[in-house]
Amino acid sequence: MSVAQIIAILGSIPLFSLRTFLPAFLTALLLSYPEYFPGMGDVAPLPEDAFLSKDWVLIVLGGLSILEIIGDKSTEIRNLIKGAETYLKPLSFLLINLSMIDEASAEILKEVQWAAIDPLWILLAIGALAVHWLARLRKNFIDFLEDIDEDDNLFIGKISSWVEDSLVLFGFFLLIWTGIVMVVLYAAAIGIILILKKRYHKKLEKQKVECTTCGERNLPFATQCSNCKQELSEIHKIGVLGQRKEALVKDRYEHRLDLLSHKRCPDCGNKLKSNKIQQQCEICGAAAFNSPGVQEYLKMQNKKFYKITGLSFLLGFIPVLGFVISAVLANIYLFSPYRRYISRSSSFFTKLFIKFITFLFFLFGIALGFLAAPAYILMRYYLWKKKFLAQVKN
Ligand SMILES: [Zn+2]
Ligand SMILES: [Zn+2]
Repeated sequence: MSVAQIIAILGSIPLFSLRTFLPAFLTALLLSYPEYFPGMGDVAPLPEDAFLSKDWVLIVLGGLSILEIIGDKSTEIRNLIKGAETYLKPLSFLLINLSMIDEASAEILKEVQWAAIDPLWILLAIGALAVHWLARLRKNFIDFLEDIDEDDNLFIGKISSWVEDSLVLFGFFLLIWTGIVMVVLYAAAIGIILILKKRYHKKLEKQKVECTTCGERNLPFATQCSNCKQELSEIHKIGVLGQRKEALVKDRYEHRLDLLSHKRCPDCGNKLKSNKIQQQCEICGAAAFNSPGVQEYLKMQNKKFYKITGLSFLLGFIPVLGFVISAVLANIYLFSPYRRYISRSSSFFTKLFIKFITFLFFLFGIALGFLAAPAYILMRYYLWKKKFLAQVKN
């Protein structure tokens, strides 16, 4: 086992924790056609009968990489494969690294007694575990981002996905040019992420408010203690991203509506798990739409609808930007509070249709935003409300 081999294995760990196929494809491409990679001209390509340099392997890996890049931009597909990915990634890591072991080492391996296990195997086993562990860390991070921006209104999910794609590409080139630098850089980055994660959890824990009756620690925006149901006196407002605001709540009832619009329990402020209207909080057992009920919820949404539609008319006089701001505001304040209670099973064509309509409205909104923005909001608000009402009847 050479130093270069160790660095290659260590360096590919973070790449495989981000993507299953892209690093595999890049590796296969490099080993088959090193002359296309700047600075790699004098590396001898793999023999033609090697598994990784076969044309069909390259084509399949390339196709899968493209699907992976596209699929990861869709919240639905991301969620669908999220669970399996943490196992697929170490598998991909192992397969690629095993097929990279050159003929010579394979010969040597044959002669090695089983008692003397080649340290390469140990390194690969640890590497696969590390990929699995990092892939899980990444999954938790994505869950956290989705919690903040559930419908990808702020494009946090898409941006993080593009950042990951570029990190894999950048990391791969860094690895083949200056392997050791790449390993050190990525190790440092992972260290920083772990520290930030710890800090974030500490901060959340610190923000909790102790119940004066039973001592239970409650979320800062809870209206009642999740344990003994005692009314809490100091309630913080909740922000757009589900964060604690410094301002304290004056109107409890309005705040309970606000919590519901974030799909949170109106009593204890914890996230509600199901999409159903009729559901109980898993933490404190409170019924979701008991008080306030569905009618009050609709009333609050309608009020917001009039305000934002009026605002969008004014904003529409700013070319392009006015329409974009209106659409983002409407997504966050008008559509999301309904959408959060509707399962995400709408068909591919419905989505395509909505994208197409949005694009048309956007074109129209370049010059005539004061008409296009309110019309867009009106149409989509009506559709989301209709879906929400259907869910209420269920
Ligand atoms: Zn209590
Ligand atoms: Zn609750």
